[in-house]
Amino acid sequence: MRVEILGCSGGIGGTSRRTTSLLLDDDILIDAGTGVTDLPLPALKTVDHVFITHSHLDHITCLPFIVDSVGEMRNTPLTMHATKETLEVIHRHIFNDDIWPDFTVIPSPENPYLCFNTLEVGRSVVIKHRSITALPANHTVPAVGYQIDNLDTGATMVFSGDTTTCPPLWDIINNIPDLRYLLVENTYPNSQREMAIHTKHFYSSLLLAEMKRLRVNPEILITNAKPVWFNQIEKELVQGAGARKLRMLLAETILDL
Ligand SMILES: [Zn+2]
Repeated sequence: MRVEILGCSGGIGGTSRRTTSLLLDDDILIDAGTGVTDLPLPALKTVDHVFITHSHLDHITCLPFIVDSVGEMRNTPLTMHATKETLEVIHRHIFNDDIWPDFTVIPSPENPYLCFNTLEVGRSVVIKHRSITALPANHTVPAVGYQIDNLDTGATMVFSGDTTTCPPLWDIINNIPDLRYLLVENTYPNSQREMAIHTKHFYSSLLLAEMKRLRVNPEILITNAKPVWFNQIEKELVQGAGARKLRMLLAETILDL
């Protein structure tokens, strides 16, 4: 499985800073942040599934544009997968005929451009050789992370989405035998501790403390750093990681799973 990081920044500001979106092979997106804007139209058209972690704008920015841009080119609806709470918020606040057309009934209710699939934490969706499972997260709005398994090779990656400390997540991670990559957010440096607590994100020393729960040894890839704090976060985490394999994740990185 090929995993292309289209965006993994906590903000925008130049070509290296795009908000969260991961492309699995050529047909599955995890989140639909501004990283999606670089995909050419033929690549957008082949995306059949979008798994959303939560309803915050930096993770869904491009979803309305994808649906509108490729709807007429496709024969089947784009399927958006998310929990019931997240689906309801996005339907009510985005695809509401005020902000954007309700493409779940356009051009017709029988054959719309967009359809919804409700996820539950712990339940897997299998698409060809890939299994995608919603994982618990702890954020200011209902949120999940995702476990992504290559069923052919047995390799696994976990993406935390936006979260702060979340003990059930680490319990699950510790029971994954072949965890190759752990993509975990760290939005703020230690100097922004109050902001991190208020917005339910990780800051460096909190993530380093949480990592002590880890009993497996994946490569740890840091996502969602606010652009202005990127270098400070990198310094704090690399210093604190000790023997663990840890680096800041960048857009355009390709991971092999
Ligand atoms: Zn968020």
